[in-house]
This record gives sequence, C-alpha cells and structure tokens, in this order.
Amino acid sequence: MIYLDAAATSAVRREVLEAMWPYLTGDFGNPSSHHTVGESAARALADARASVAAWLGCRPTEVTFTSGGTEADNLAIKGIALGNPRGRHIVTTPIEHEAVLESVDYLVRLHGFEATFLPVAADGLVAPADLAAALRDDTTLVSVMLANNEVGTVQPIAELAAIAHARRIPFHTDAVQAAGWLDLDVQRLGVDALSVSGHKIGAPKGIGALYVRGRIPLEPVLHGGGQERGRRSGTENVAGAVALAAAARLATAGRESNAQRATEARDGFVSAVLAAVPDARLTGHPTSRLPGTASFVFPGTNGEAVLLELERHGVVSSSGSACAAGSEDASHVLLALGYPDDVARTAVRFSWGADVTAGQLVEVAPAVAEAVREIASLGR
Ligand code: PLP
Repeated sequence: MIYLDAAATSAVRREVLEAMWPYLTGDFGNPSSHHTVGESAARALADARASVAAWLGCRPTEVTFTSGGTEADNLAIKGIALGNPRGRHIVTTPIEHEAVLESVDYLVRLHGFEATFLPVAADGLVAPADLAAALRDDTTLVSVMLANNEVGTVQPIAELAAIAHARRIPFHTDAVQAAGWLDLDVQRLGVDALSVSGHKIGAPKGIGALYVRGRIPLEPVLHGGGQERGRRSGTENVAGAVALAAAARLATAGRESNAQRATEARDGFVSAVLAAVPDARLTGHPTSRLPGTASFVFPGTNGEAVLLELERHGVVSSSGSACAAGSEDASHVLLALGYPDDVARTAVRFSWGADVTAGQLVEVAPAVAEAVREIASLGR
C-alpha cells in the first residue's frame, strides 16, 4: 500500500513521539501548578514555544498554542476582527479552508460584518490588483491562505500582505498545508497572523499554533482560566506543544532539499499521469504549487469511485479535501476555479511527505490509468 494522502494527515514521527513521551508520563504536570511537577511542564512549554517561534521567525510571546489548524484559523479571524475596532469588512478568498470560510460566515451572520471574496484564476492564484481594489477604509482583516489544500496553489503572500499593509490592514495566512515545504518566516512573508497544524508535519492531531504580531489586539475565542496570556484558555497540551516543536525542528532541518526532491518527484508523477490518462488535467498552478500535492480531474469518471478503485490497487488518495469527506457536494475550491460541477466531481488528490521517492510516485501512474479506465468504462 502506498499512502498518498499526506495533506489529510501524517503519521507521528518516531523522534516526535520520543520527544513528547515524557510529558505524557513522568513529567505530566499542569504548567499552572506551583510545584516542581508543574514547573517542569511549564519549562517544557516555554521551550516548545521558543522552538515554534524560531520556526516562524517571531517572538515566543507571539505564539499561541491551539488544538490545531481549525482553532488557529478561528482565533485569527474572529479574534482579530472582533478585537480591532477599525471596521466590519473582511477580505478573503472563496478557496480557503472551511475553518476560515465558516469563521467569516459567523462574523457576517452574528456580528454584522461584510465579506468580500477575491476572484481566483483557473490556476488558483489571487491577483494582487484585485486585493488592492477590494480594500476599504473599514476593512478590518485580510485572510488569504499560503497554499491551497486541494489543488496546492501557492499564493504570492508577501506581495498581497504588502498591499494590505499599505492601508494598515492586518493580514492573516493559513499556512497549514505549506508547513514543512515552504519558508514560514513571518517577517519574510510580511504577515501579521499565521496558522499551523501539527498533524500535517508528523506531530499528533490536536495541536497547532497561531502567530499574531505583538501589538495586534486579539479577542479570545475560548474563555476560562486565562492560559496562553489570556488568548486561549484551557490547560495547555504540553506534550502536544513539545511534539509540534519537535516536528517543526525536523521539518526545518531538511526543508529545502526535501522540497527540491519532492518537486522533481511531483513533476515526474504529473507527467506520467498525464501521459497515461489522455483526458486527465492537473488542477492548480503548474509551477507555483506545493512540492507534495498533485490533484487531477478525470472527466467522464467520478472522483470518489476512482479513489475506491485506486485503493484496490494499493494506492490511498483523496477525492477532495478530507475535511469535506462524506459530503456529496463538489469541491468549493474547484467550483471557484471555474470547473463545471460535473468535472469538479471527478477530482482526485495525491499528496505525500518528504520521504516519498520519485520512483514510488511514477509507479503509481499505471494504477491511476487503470482505475480511471475501469470507472470510465462503467460510465460513472
Ligand atoms: N487549513 C487548511 C489549509 C487545512 O488543510 C486544514 C486541514 O486539512 C486545516 C486548516 C485544519 O487543520 P486541523 O485539521 O488541524 O484542524
């Protein structure tokens, strides 16, 4: 079996498990406790925060641990929008993850916000001029994802953030899928807030982090004991934070060479699939894309059926974003990119981590061709 659904989640890496293990067992303390067991946990949490801050190029006080990418996105969108008295207008894109889209929808429904959704081209890119045109005096936040979870398109975030900053508007980016592949230095990206999630890079599910630039007011979403400098109440997931820090260190160490190798493997895979399946089309941008994602539409088939057939051939993939799995709707991302509903339903996404080899990926292409042929011949 080859697992090509790394964008949905990844296995916990051994080094990460070893790093977190002590904080699940002997050093199990609550960081708020005033005794040696608690102090040890508090030290581990502080060290983890420093590591995550080093990964993101920010100060440790600017890092808030969350339960994952969804909570980081919720805290960024609701927290900045409600904490900033500037106005009630938000700018985002129609291809964001549901965690962003639903948070924006919440502000629209319950807090009187207006939302502008920027147009996206067929390759998934947002045009800087469209962002400039969408900004208003009452715009309180811009949120554009660094890399898309379905088609893998990577946005020109530094350029977009600069446009928002020229109007003194805070800029958030969801970097959940970019983590491990792209440089997440918030100074170089020029962003004011950035979300990451542990389980995409070899940490367990249920831990993530949000960076928010020092002086930006942030209204908490979770109220309670005032942990995380009042930004996110709840007893801290110390072992999870340690795991995220360990995974971040591992991801940083080999990032550029891993990305280079995976990009070559990806391009070989894309060529092999396009050669083997005559009607297949790669979705997303041809070059400004994640090294670890290749998503195709196979007109005349059904993505869900191809996915099941592929699994019979030993290939595990996804028919869209896992977070929307179970839903019968066509992908909102592909619809926003202009794919007709019937073509959007034929999408299959393949995604992998740094350990995949070019040879492994190329070997998958004949199975893809066979699965597509079988499903097409059944007329579904
Ligand atoms: N944002 C993006 C782009 C994602 O791909 C995901 C998960 O797939 C999330 C946010 C949500 O992250 P989590 O699963 O940690 O809640």
